[in-house]
Amino acid sequence: MEGISAYIWIFCVGLVIGSFLNVLIYRIPRKLSFGFNRSFCPSCKEKIKFYDNIPVVSYIILKGKCRNCKAGISFRYPLVELLNGLIYAFLLHNFGPSMEFIVFCFLSSVLITIFFIDLDFQIIPDLLTMPGMAVGLGVSLLPGGIGIVSSLIGLAVGGGVLYLIALGGDWLFKKESMGGGDIKMAAMLGAFLGWQKVVFIFFAAAVIGLMISLVIMLFSKKLRVSRVVPFGPFLALGAFAAIVYGDSVIAYYISNYLKI
Ligand SMILES: [Zn+2]
Repeated sequence: MEGISAYIWIFCVGLVIGSFLNVLIYRIPRKLSFGFNRSFCPSCKEKIKFYDNIPVVSYIILKGKCRNCKAGISFRYPLVELLNGLIYAFLLHNFGPSMEFIVFCFLSSVLITIFFIDLDFQIIPDLLTMPGMAVGLGVSLLPGGIGIVSSLIGLAVGGGVLYLIALGGDWLFKKESMGGGDIKMAAMLGAFLGWQKVVFIFFAAAVIGLMISLVIMLFSKKLRVSRVVPFGPFLALGAFAAIVYGDSVIAYYISNYLKI
């Protein structure tokens, strides 16, 4: 596959999978089954016709309203589809048609799903992170993979560091500061990416989290710290940064600071 047509093809595949991610984002935290039953309108519960379920296109044709009850459809649906499509095309640009490309597409889609579920419900479902760890360990064995030893160390470092931070936070604040979901998510990321990139992710997530918190504090005077701030979205953003920039940042760090 060469040229622009490969990108358009991968973008469309990303849109279709993005549409499935919307189903997961909606159904997993509500404990609904996500088998083969068709999508329905959250307002009137009417089943959505296949021709009204085309990623992005249907949203535009229906002008963002349900055909049956005219209730507004959240802009989030086409946004998730577009985001997933664009990320797939971007990853193809970065990694070419390779095993890495497929693995990172898969991981990115899991991250998008976690991002929006954690944002809405402040939970990171085991249903995503536990199989995610298994897939991460599994793909480490593939040709060009990071290897099972690196994957296991990554899993232990990712989960272990956040577990220790959680213990420290619980002791400091006398309440649960970080959920088990965050710990399992970090373990999953370690299994996929290895311990070096997990360390990168923690730094990136902390920096991104700090910047976004500062922006929110500047624009919202009534920010309360009492609410548990979901850490998953920051981990997801940090992980995406690690997928794209991790290798070059780690190589730069090693060549400049770890001269022997
Ligand atoms: Zn409706």
